[in-house]
Amino acid sequence: MSSPIKRNISLVGDAQFTGIELTHAKDFAAGFPGIKVALQHTFKEMGALEALGTLSKMNQKEGFDCAGCAWPDPEKPSKLGEYCENGAKALAEEATYEKVDADFFKKYSVEEISTWSNFKIGKSGRLTQPMLLKENSVHYEPIRWETAFSMIANHLKTLKSPDEAIFYTSGRSSNEAAFLYGLFVRAFGTNNMPDCSNMCHESSGVALSETLGIGKGSVKLEDFDMAEVIMVIGQNPGTNHPRMLSALEKCKMNCGKIISINPLEEAGLIKFKDLQSLSGITQGTSLTDIHLQVKINEDVALLKLILKKLAHLDKSGEKVFDHAFIETYTQGIEDLLKDLDHYSESELLERCGVPEKAIDRAVSILAKKNKIIICWAMGLTQHKNGVDNIKECVNLLLLKGSLGKPGAGTCPVRGHSNVQGDRTVGIMHHVSTELNKTIERVFGFIPPDKEGLDTVKALEAMHEGRSKIFIGLGGNFVSAVSDTQYAAEAIQNCELTVQISTKLNRSHLVTGKTALILPTLGRSEKDHFEGKDRFLTVENSMGQVHRTKGVLKPKSEHLKSEPEIIGGIANAYFNDGHPVDWAGLGTNYDSIRKKMSRDFEGIRICPKGF
Ligand code: SF4
Repeated sequence: MSSPIKRNISLVGDAQFTGIELTHAKDFAAGFPGIKVALQHTFKEMGALEALGTLSKMNQKEGFDCAGCAWPDPEKPSKLGEYCENGAKALAEEATYEKVDADFFKKYSVEEISTWSNFKIGKSGRLTQPMLLKENSVHYEPIRWETAFSMIANHLKTLKSPDEAIFYTSGRSSNEAAFLYGLFVRAFGTNNMPDCSNMCHESSGVALSETLGIGKGSVKLEDFDMAEVIMVIGQNPGTNHPRMLSALEKCKMNCGKIISINPLEEAGLIKFKDLQSLSGITQGTSLTDIHLQVKINEDVALLKLILKKLAHLDKSGEKVFDHAFIETYTQGIEDLLKDLDHYSESELLERCGVPEKAIDRAVSILAKKNKIIICWAMGLTQHKNGVDNIKECVNLLLLKGSLGKPGAGTCPVRGHSNVQGDRTVGIMHHVSTELNKTIERVFGFIPPDKEGLDTVKALEAMHEGRSKIFIGLGGNFVSAVSDTQYAAEAIQNCELTVQISTKLNRSHLVTGKTALILPTLGRSEKDHFEGKDRFLTVENSMGQVHRTKGVLKPKSEHLKSEPEIIGGIANAYFNDGHPVDWAGLGTNYDSIRKKMSRDFEGIRICPKGF
């Protein structure tokens, strides 16, 4: 038996960044440049007519949900178009006619493709059929679905313990696919379900659960219209959630104030040109009233300084805090005020690096208002003290009574379009006794009660050879985690890696000894089965679940939906020897939804976080 070859895989490609020009910083987002880029990308990949037709269905009630991010859609989506430049780019990548098929993989080895830049790999096109990378090969070759399912099942059966397998979820998977995946993983016998939340809003979930009892945001989109103050902290909506700028614009039009806290002043928070309004065609709408340019990761110092100044005003009789709310709904204010006393204003000022004048202007606005929304993203969460960052935000809202009422509350803005939904339906490495009891009652098997591995622990387990199989439901795991080198060594240590994906990315090149690619339908594609078009559901950043139904002809007849793929793997593994009808659930999404809504309604899925 020859020893496995060592594939020579580049982790970053050898693209040289040439021709980078330094231009003046932009002072507005969207506008004609935004629409130009959106149409350029979609027209190039889809042709003008199909592009315009499909864009008109994006984020519409009868249409499909944009996979670009988790920003919610308004109750009445604009008929002129409810998408941004990023959404259009995400659609163009999914709806391209470029194909990564058997001929592509015959022509290009994984070693050669790995030398390309991530951009070029991503632009190679859609995956069209199941592909196998054998242990001693550098070229993927076609494999039949059934053979692929059996191969995965056989590999899983070789493991000494179910904990030798890792089941990763990226936040683009639908609620139905994620529910079925979580069910299968538990039926298989492990809670090893790392997911992309571990790398983005995990600290939000933990901080909000520990302070407010629920790990999700409390506001709805319409609250933005009623807010007196919106604080945008450690977030760049102009680049990551562009349609949020419309909500900020509405707040401004209703005389609300915007305070942004960020080491960088972002164009999107300076001015927004919404072409669906007259001002957007002309001068645009200025958004931020006060920008507090905080030093990196000194948000806690700045927020404590703001709280100290507000406490001082309140003590001097200015009725800044909502004492009725504090008395009725909170506890621990004495400890908070004592904690603030530990810090001197000069020390906090020094640490945060923000001019005191600017802070005082922000404090004078916050002192008079109590309909306050605080929005945040990775600038707050991706720090060792991420949980503390968010707790200080909650402290401010509680002192002002800005929770549980219109125009006020918490707003962690999620990246992946269904990252919150995946958690809600059970993708979680922690154990919930309540969930396990319900699964036992409804599905007739006893789920494992041993804590699973999150992303960091899963990487360590693969790197140390304790886990041998990695299955990825969407995503680009190797490039998503912060230490690419360590992640690559961990993944390449696996016997088998499986990626359920729509388009090519670096995680199809940095693989285990044997690798499988299982191509799935994109969000914009029709999911036709037994004569009818099926729909799926997703949950946005504000906890609203809505349906998504594709409109385009699938790019290949060989594609399967994510639930079908999971049902196929589970069915091959259990071989009908299990109380759950995996193949049935995999094809009949209504039956999954019925179970979720009837049997799991109100079940606390996550003991900690969310
Ligand atoms: S804001 Fe997000 S969800 Fe909305 S169109 Fe843009 S990328 Fe898509």
